[in-house]
Amino acid sequence: MQTEKSPAAFIESLRPAGSKRSSKRDTIVNVFLGQDGHLTADDLVDLIRKEDQRISRATVYRTLAWMEAAGIARKVDFGEGRFRFEHSYRHPRHFHLICKTCNRQMEFLSSDIEQFIEEVVQARRFTLGQAVVQLYGTCEDCATGKPPATRHVSSEALFARDALRIAIATERSGREFYTRAASMTKDARARAIFERLSTDEDDHLDRLEKRYQELLAAEPDLEQQPQFLFFKGAANGLFSAGVDALRSVTSDRDALMLGIKCERGSHRFFKRYGEKFEDSEGKRIFLEFADEEREHLEMLIREYRIITKKDKGAAGASA
Ligand SMILES: [Zn+2]
Ligand SMILES: [Zn+2]
Repeated sequence: MQTEKSPAAFIESLRPAGSKRSSKRDTIVNVFLGQDGHLTADDLVDLIRKEDQRISRATVYRTLAWMEAAGIARKVDFGEGRFRFEHSYRHPRHFHLICKTCNRQMEFLSSDIEQFIEEVVQARRFTLGQAVVQLYGTCEDCATGKPPATRHVSSEALFARDALRIAIATERSGREFYTRAASMTKDARARAIFERLSTDEDDHLDRLEKRYQELLAAEPDLEQQPQFLFFKGAANGLFSAGVDALRSVTSDRDALMLGIKCERGSHRFFKRYGEKFEDSEGKRIFLEFADEEREHLEMLIREYRIITKKDKGAAGASA
């Protein structure tokens, strides 16, 4: 498991060895990391001035350039004729929805868009630097005349919430898969494995749901916030296709094989995306989950080998 770095430790880790602390720079960096939107350089100057009147505009600009070079700040261009900056410290990768009426910028992430970009880049043998996806239009609040959302919730919190929702959906579908597989298995050993995995998924589910409740306790209106992760195929649980496929399975061996396929797909999914994300709660959820799925996968493979040998042995004895 990764250790969590505090913002101060993060800034410290970026400072070249032997270089002296600059309290002005620290103030600017802290103010910048404390906000969660997309600021222009002048927005940041205004915020800094509230904090410390003695910090000059030139110092803010210089520090912003340093933060960009150090990977703390990301430059974004919404076509307004000036750049905005967002912080990249524990801020998940994302794309933007930009409302032309209220000028709000909202964030989301889609696995389909990412996969599509990867396909194009690979086919064209293109070395990708940065992928920018920006959708312009009118937000729901402006279109319906609803008062805008009460409070802004960080993308990091939305990301953690959605990562947990995906993991929970996967555990639920996994539990259903193993419960069903156990009830139709004839071989006692294979049945015991399915039962054990079903109990395992139950325990994991408990833990994930507790974590979800903790998240909600920290951000009370988190559930009402818009969706951040659009991960098609994962939303209903990665085992749901396997649950359907179980209906046409007739042998214990095939049931084990189907379990292996589901676990492998799930492990790959969580590992692949988990590795791509910036350090965050969502990333940890994905990677921890990937590890648990790998353990299940290994257990099923061992069992599959044993049952295959047994089948061969039986065939040899009857011949
Ligand atoms: Zn709007
Ligand atoms: Zn953004």
